[in-house]
Amino acid sequence: MSLKVYINGKLFDKAEAKVSVYDHGLLYGDGVFEGLRSYGGKVFKLEEHIQRLYASARAIHLEIPMARDELAEAVLDTLKVNDLTDAYIRLVVTRGAGSLGLDPRKTTDPQVIIITDSISLYPAELYDHGLKIVTAGTIRNHPAALNPRIKSLNYLNNILAKIEGTNAGCLEALMLNHTGHIAECTGDNIFVVEDGVIHTPSVDSGILEGITREAVIDLARSIGLTVIERTMDRHDVYTADECFLTGTAAEVIPVIECDARLIGDGRPGPITKDLHHRFHALVRGEAAS
Ligand code: PMP
Repeated sequence: MSLKVYINGKLFDKAEAKVSVYDHGLLYGDGVFEGLRSYGGKVFKLEEHIQRLYASARAIHLEIPMARDELAEAVLDTLKVNDLTDAYIRLVVTRGAGSLGLDPRKTTDPQVIIITDSISLYPAELYDHGLKIVTAGTIRNHPAALNPRIKSLNYLNNILAKIEGTNAGCLEALMLNHTGHIAECTGDNIFVVEDGVIHTPSVDSGILEGITREAVIDLARSIGLTVIERTMDRHDVYTADECFLTGTAAEVIPVIECDARLIGDGRPGPITKDLHHRFHALVRGEAAS
């Protein structure tokens, strides 16, 4: 059976799920999106993702033509139709088709798209051995240009950094902000552990407020660990005992090298491993409850 894709209230076979070449999402990256996961048929932090989608849309003056609970319901229905329990879900809202000019007032029909598919993950061995990252020369968008808190369809900034990472043989790249402090990786938030205390760049460092980031902060605090959100630089990464990334697809993944400096002893550290296991148990446990 072909996967069905939801567009504006209708389901289409994957091959037939299309938007106009005049859609400003395609022409200008004008739109917003979310990446979610379901475990055992239950979507992790569905409300938070919907909330962030509507916040991103509001920030770019895009009105999503349906209520939040309708959209949440449509996500669950699309999963069911596709008989998917452990899935990756992509929610996209484009500005819709318009004229060839930038003016969003000339667009008429925002496209609300829900894609549910199997998830492609980092190779399992990276969770055991850790990831190498490099710092990209491309900095994260200046918040006064395109605020990284907006999960917009305009991801070229991160794509350019990702290309730098892959050219250097790394699957992720660290992005600095306009003041030279660390922000996040191209599709994940970053954390370090120093003397048993967890540190992560604060939201005003120019990051996406990751939903996994928030969940991991809560998890760490719930087991008595201290988490400090602050301004950080690369020195904090180079000299850390441990480093890890968080994201919907990655969950919690260890980093063992940055810019050719080994982090700690070059192996995933105990706090990273513990949080990885606890997060894994949390998402799957919630699914089972
Ligand atoms: N930062 C960026 C730039 C991202 O695109 C993402 C999502 N892939 C994240 C961080 C992690 O966010 P979340 O935990 O909500 O998936």
